[in-house]
Amino acid sequence: MECKLIRPADLDEALAAREQYTHDALPIAGGQSLLVMMRNRLVAPAALIDLEPIEALRGVEVSSAGISIGAMNTCRQLIASPVLGEEVGVLPVAARQVSSTAVRNLGTIGGNVCHNEPGADLPPALLALNARAAVRRRANAREVPLAEFFTGYFETVLEPDEILCRIDIEHPPAGAAGVYLKHAISPEDLAMVGVAAVVVPDGKQTGGVAEVRIGIGGAAPVPLRAARTEAALKGAVLDAETARAAGETAATEVDPPSDPHAGADYRRKMVSVFVRRALLQAARQIEENGHGAA
Ligand SMILES: Cc1cc2nc3c(=O)[nH]c(=O)nc-3n(C[C@H](O)[C@H](O)[C@H](O)COP(=O)(O)OP(=O)(O)OC[C@H]3O[C@@H](n4cnc5c(N)ncnc54)[C@H](O)[C@@H]3O)c2cc1C
Repeated sequence: MECKLIRPADLDEALAAREQYTHDALPIAGGQSLLVMMRNRLVAPAALIDLEPIEALRGVEVSSAGISIGAMNTCRQLIASPVLGEEVGVLPVAARQVSSTAVRNLGTIGGNVCHNEPGADLPPALLALNARAAVRRRANAREVPLAEFFTGYFETVLEPDEILCRIDIEHPPAGAAGVYLKHAISPEDLAMVGVAAVVVPDGKQTGGVAEVRIGIGGAAPVPLRAARTEAALKGAVLDAETARAAGETAATEVDPPSDPHAGADYRRKMVSVFVRRALLQAARQIEENGHGAA
């Protein structure tokens, strides 16, 4: 079947095309996953809406409200952005661990979260940063906390007439440290387990934490926040024993799949190990620098 390519001049034109075609068309960003899906005949859209020319989906903007990242920023651009490195370093650290140079050069943050492939590296970091998805349709706009964005394997809350425009993140609290760790068969693979931790020190005692946010990917049908683990860590002193216990609690919060790469029990065990390591690494970052860098 022939596939038509629509090249909208701006966001309004793209949203009009979304409204006109709904299920019959798909937006294309970097094309890294969508073209593979089309080649394997998993999807067969009648039209593609090319997001590449749309200026409103680009750039990184910083204001008193926080940081706003255009959906068309590639992983390479996330890594190269000094402002992201300074403000929300865990995101470029996660982007650096996405597959190969070729995929990082073309794959976008918007495509990464909309595709919602299990084991993607950006969602755990974005969850730990309390990110929100700014979504538009022709008639209106809405903001969705990323924790509510992912609904199932390769599924999100996005409706067929909507476009994810930007990812918004509030400035992390002063002194917060951010860590992302990936466990994969080879560095170019999707994560078997990916863990991001943002730790906010209480500023009163060594290892004392005011808040901890943990994002986990690859270990459940959707990337998730380890809410019970986070609650147990509030006000705790982050030492080896607390981190070990936190890892064990986190392992009870996931629902990992079994596949030819790894069984569910192994993935659960790796959640426990990588949550512990991420927390201790964040605590070290805070201690060494006198402050962290989320
Ligand atoms: C070989 C290979 C290895 C990979 N390894 C990793 C890895 O280790 N870690 C990792 O995190 N990722 C990995 N990926 C995924 C990659 O990083 C990209 O995130 C992914 O390909 C999607 O980004 P894209 O810009 O190419 O989106 P596309 O492929 O263009 O689109 C993907 C999906 O999202 C939709 N979409 C895209 N942008 C929007 C938008 N703004 N609004 C609404 N819908 C939208 C499209 O319609 C499509 O359904 C890998 C991909 C490949 C091909």
